This record gives sequence, structure tokens and C-alpha cells, in this order.
Amino acid sequence: MGEFAISCGPQKLYTFILRTLVLIRNRRYNICMIVVLKPKTRPDVVEALVAQLEEKGFKIHLSRGEETTILGLIGDTSHTREESFLANDAVESVMRVTSPYKLAGRAFHPDNTVIRAGNAVLGRDSNAQLAVIAGPCSVESEEQIIAVAKAVKAAGAKILRGGAFKPRTSPYSFQGLGSEGMDLLLAAKKTSGLPVITELMSINQLDLFAGIDIIQIGARNMQNYDLLKEVGLSGKPVLLKRGLSSTVKEFLMSVEYILAAGNPHVILCERGIRTFDPYTRNTLDLSVIPWLQKETHLPVVVDPSHACGMSWMVPTLAKAAVAAGADGIMVEVHNNPATALCDGEQSLTPAAFAELMCKLAEYAKLEGRTL
Ligand code: PEP
Ligand code: MN
Repeated sequence: MGEFAISCGPQKLYTFILRTLVLIRNRRYNICMIVVLKPKTRPDVVEALVAQLEEKGFKIHLSRGEETTILGLIGDTSHTREESFLANDAVESVMRVTSPYKLAGRAFHPDNTVIRAGNAVLGRDSNAQLAVIAGPCSVESEEQIIAVAKAVKAAGAKILRGGAFKPRTSPYSFQGLGSEGMDLLLAAKKTSGLPVITELMSINQLDLFAGIDIIQIGARNMQNYDLLKEVGLSGKPVLLKRGLSSTVKEFLMSVEYILAAGNPHVILCERGIRTFDPYTRNTLDLSVIPWLQKETHLPVVVDPSHACGMSWMVPTLAKAAVAAGADGIMVEVHNNPATALCDGEQSLTPAAFAELMCKLAEYAKLEGRTL
């Protein structure tokens, strides 16, 4: 147990905590969590708590003031909840210094994770390729998915998307073609040579995903922890969409479920979050892109289609996402958006997609990347 004593009355508590925080910031002691005890906590109570924490495997850095004592926990606190300390009457407050998403965070994994699917590269490797994922919201027919697959491939897309199991708000809306849709998507993969991504909604569907290159977990299932554990065991690349109203911390804790189950191939997808303003379908959180790039080592993909819900706005948001540092874009493309069974209003025509790809190539170049 390390210890240092400072003179500290109650009026100096603020300075005392600040000084401790500065010490922690400097990482002189590699402290991961700090526990502030109530003023005048008896020494025997402090000692009992220290012994209890040491028994759990933590090293304790003790900062003892005249009135207040602060414990700095050194060790792996990723499995320790801040709230668990508050049951102890002697504890005033608890602060986490290191992030709770140990596996997703850069602290223990400084190098970028790069995920490959067919010819597509997701993440920042020496090639610095940007991955464009394109295709319809839902697989509707053989003719439709093959036509879109050929068109997006010709325009330079690297991965084909298409939902077979659709999470619809209304139970009366088109729910996707299910296993027939999976077969059609695999047929489009064979014809086009593009790797494919499609959404998994239930553990029961996993057997149908053998030929699928990337499993998508949709926004509505971001906190379906059993599903996350299962895709974690599958070992296949997983694209996890940020939940409709999820904080970044909640998003990353969900990522942590997949990583902790042993699957390192996780792609983060920002698809807009729900805010107070409905003028767009969702609000694209552009600032999360550099934030995730800084804090995590995982590839970041942006879905501008579900973010804004309007096809005319999609190219602008796609360009903005590339400028903000995204590793990939996922765009909905339909051969005839007016007749689409799902999300036609936000789907680009093949011609609009081809035009976007030309523009994106220039934006990618500015960022030192290729399409
Ligand atoms: C989708 O990509 O088909 C989809 C349903 O998106 P989200 O989960 O982001 O709503
Ligand atoms: Mn859609």
C-alpha cells in the first residue's frame, strides 16, 4: 500500500481532490479509480476497506488528509462498478479514471484493428482504403438484389448490403423475406463477387449466416446482450450499430460484450441518434467519428441513409463522414426507390450512387485514403 500524507482541513477538500486528480492524470501511480471517504472516517474503517480491496487484488494508494481520506485503486477495475462502493457507509463518492471499455479502448490496444471481408478492408491499414457498403434496405426479389449488386459493384462498392430479417416499427409492415432473402443475398454474392452484410435479429437465425461475411446487429438490438454474446462466440466480423438513444459509453459497453466473448472483429457504426428535433429521421452525430477514432482501435463506419432518412441529403452526409475520418460508409441503394418495400425515400438510385462514388473518391484523397 503506497501512502502520502497532506495537510487538509474540510475547507481544503476541493484542492485536495484536485491535487489527487492531477497526480492521477499524470499517471504516476497508474490509478484506475478513486474512492473518496466521508470526512472523519475512523482509521480502523479505512484500514478495513483497504484490506478488503487488497484482498480483491487491487493495490491501494492512500491519500490521507486531516479530515478526508482518498483511496486510489491500482489494478483492473473493468469488472468493478462504481456503485458497488456506495453500499459502504464510509464512502462519499467514487470516480473512474480509466475507461470501463478495456478491450475496445486504445489504452491496451494502441494499433488500429483492420477487418477484411473479401476485397474490402475496414479500418486504417497501410493501404488506407475506405470501404463503401451499398445495397437495398431489404432484399425483395432475385431480380432486384442482383441488379443492385451489379450496379453498386460497377460504381466501386466493396460490400453488398441487404436485409432479410427486418426490424420494423409496425408488425404490419414488410418484415423481410427471411430465409428466402438470405438465399437471394447469397446468390447476389456469387454473381457479383462482393462480400455481403445482413442483419441478425435473433440467435435462432444464426445457422442461416454461414455464408454471410459480416453480421449486422441493428440499432434496436444494440443492447440485446444475449445476441451480442452469441455473435461474440461466432467469430465472424460484426457491424454493431449505435442504438437509437444510446450514449457513446453504452455503445462501447455493448461492443465490449462482443469482444469479451472472444470476437475481435467488431466494426462500429454511427447511424444517427434520436434527438428532440424530427426534421431529419435521426441526428447524425459527426463528432462521434473522431472521438471513436481517438478512444478505440476499431473501424468506424457511418450510415448516412438511416441518419437523415432523405435520399437527397445522403451524399452530403457521406462526404462529411469521410471528412470527419470514417473508415467506411454504408448507403442504401435501390434500383427503383419509388417501389421499394422499405426505406425507398432514403435510397439512392444506382445513378445517384455512382455520382456519389466519384465525389467520395476526391474527398477520400483529401484524407489520404482511397476508395
Ligand atoms: C438497416 O440498416 O437496415 C437498419 C434497420 O438500420 P438501423 O438498425 O440503423 O435502424
Ligand atoms: Mn433501411
